[in-house]
Amino acid sequence: MTLALHGGDPVRTASWPIWPQPAPEAGRQLADVLASGRWSISGPYRGADTRERTFARRFAEYNGTGHCVPAASGTAALMIALEACGIGAGDEVIVPGISWVATASTVLAVNAVPVFAEVDPDTLCLDPAAAEAAITPATRAIIVVHLYSALADMDALRALARRHDLTLIEDAAQAHGAVHRGAKAGTMGRAGAFSMHHTKVLTCGEGGAAITADPQLALRMAELRADGRHQPEQPPPLNEMELVTTGTVMGSNRALSEFHAALLIAQLGRLDQQNEQRAVQAAALEKSLADLGFATQRTSEGTERRTYFGFVIRLPEEFDGIDSAAAAAAVSAELSLPVKPVYPAIPASPLYRPDSRRRFDLGDRHRGRIDRARHRLPVSERAAARHLTFHHSALLGERSDVDDIAAALGKLRDHRADLG
Ligand SMILES: *Cc1c(COP(=O)(O)O)cnc(C)c1O
Repeated sequence: MTLALHGGDPVRTASWPIWPQPAPEAGRQLADVLASGRWSISGPYRGADTRERTFARRFAEYNGTGHCVPAASGTAALMIALEACGIGAGDEVIVPGISWVATASTVLAVNAVPVFAEVDPDTLCLDPAAAEAAITPATRAIIVVHLYSALADMDALRALARRHDLTLIEDAAQAHGAVHRGAKAGTMGRAGAFSMHHTKVLTCGEGGAAITADPQLALRMAELRADGRHQPEQPPPLNEMELVTTGTVMGSNRALSEFHAALLIAQLGRLDQQNEQRAVQAAALEKSLADLGFATQRTSEGTERRTYFGFVIRLPEEFDGIDSAAAAAAVSAELSLPVKPVYPAIPASPLYRPDSRRRFDLGDRHRGRIDRARHRLPVSERAAARHLTFHHSALLGERSDVDDIAAALGKLRDHRADLG
């Protein structure tokens, strides 16, 4: 047998489930918005709650918290959460060494300084001891990320934030519906931010939301995402503009459209069932892979429900010296499924380039603090180099899909020498 990458027969050529999968009622919901005369929260009252407001209520309920502020993207949600918490110019925010670039670029976007701390090599989430070591007198906040299929060590991180009087913000962009000791991801800090981007487990193409238990914080986030305006408790007369102007805070327009909100209402109804299906498939795959000598991503103690945004496989030590990108390409070729190395450490990522934008050029002192070359993250870099991942949609098909994935990994292990 030869690797498919080198011209051999692949393990599988059949197609995989596509993503996103529209809920059956999504088309009708979108058509209703089209005809409604209200395509944005910044529009006239038409005699009913906006879809945006309805989704906010349902998503807050889903998470067991008081308030939800929808936003145009996960990036926008992180930015309104940071700014509503009072994070700004020159403040240091501790972020994990591995995440999607937006976890750190949003810190820069509010003129604060991301300080990278190492991740735990088993969960790929922020290491509490490393976070503690990164605290300085300028530290104001910690952003914790629940990455791929893990929940971060929230017991230790919550205690750490409390001990040092730091704001804890959860980047739950990949963890809609995950549960830690009875609490949903996104409800364990001052605010939680979600992405509803195309790839995410709950999606409307592009969208986001920030949640919090604190009504004052929610109001500030709402104004920050609608140019300083918010929705009133009581609606105005029919066909008059609904948002009220207060002038309390200068915001930006980062609002979610009514089309996106309508889609999210429909898709939210399928989230639990899809999360469950992915978890069942993932458990079967974990077992098969363990038999083949492959470890998979661990999650923190206290995790009661994992959600799988990505399934993560560790390359065993016998792969040392083999480029993870080559290993990923070999598995992809066996399965006709995109398999990739996990995100690189953020400071080493080609997407993280603060020096490429004039807006971050705030003087010599600031330039030195945000210089990505000053961050050394050997643990995160090593972890990034030995884990592969594939998208959660591959867990939404048949049990035999999991067997194919395991077979491809087994073949990779047997032929690793061919990868040089
Ligand atoms: C997707 C993602 C974001 C950003 O969300 P967008 O909707 O793409 O702006 C932030 N953090 C993490 C961990 C993500 O996965």
